[in-house]
Formats: sequence, C-alpha cells, structure tokens
Amino acid sequence: MKNYICPKCGGHLSIGNEIIFLTKNNSGDYAIVLLSTEIGDYSFRKNDNVNFEAGDHVNFICPICYENLNAEEYDSNLAKVIMVDETGKESNIVFSKILGEKATYSVHEKGVEAYGDHKDNYLEKM
Ligand SMILES: [Zn+2]
Repeated sequence: MKNYICPKCGGHLSIGNEIIFLTKNNSGDYAIVLLSTEIGDYSFRKNDNVNFEAGDHVNFICPICYENLNAEEYDSNLAKVIMVDETGKESNIVFSKILGEKATYSVHEKGVEAYGDHKDNYLEKM
C-alpha cells in the first residue's frame, strides 16, 4: 500500500485508500476533504454541506501540523505531498489546488510523470 506523508512534519496523511486534508477555499469555507491515493483518480469526499465549486482555489493544509502544503517552488496553484510506494521509493506528488483542474505530477529522481486532462498546464514548470 502507498503511504502519503506531509513534507513539513513527516506525519502520515493516508488511511487505506484515502488521503486526509484540512482545506479552505477562497471564500473562507473550511472542510475536511478525502482524496484518493490513486494518482489520476480525481474523485474525492467531503461533507455535503460544504459548497466548494469548480474553479475554487483550495488551500490544502496538513491535519497534523497545520502547515500549508503549497508547492510555491513550482506554481502558486499547486500543492504537494510525499508518496512512499510499496518498495519504499519516495516521490513528490504535486497537484492542482484548483477544484476541477485535473493536473498531477509525480516528481522523482528519474524524472516526471504527468497525469490528468489538464496536465499540460504546469508540465514545463516541473
Ligand atoms: Zn504536517
């Protein structure tokens, strides 16, 4: 099983097949959001009373250390976590914070793999 780790505190963010984040959109609404651990699977879960909409700029916050997971070194629209695969290999997983924008990058020592319908949006910055 893959494990997802906070780059700031090293805490484990995943349980089973989901990654847990605190999030806040640009309207100031907060929510717990569960993302799939499968790269390229953009389904997610949140409380039905939270009205995040397509195009919202969502800040992803570690639920353990409360640090922002922004990946400013690439782009202000991106966040990142560390993924440790079944063999113990680490990759940086960089993903879009814009709801509905499907762009995810696995960045590791051998190069970059890009996923999602909008992967070209930031590929040259990886
Ligand atoms: Zn953390």
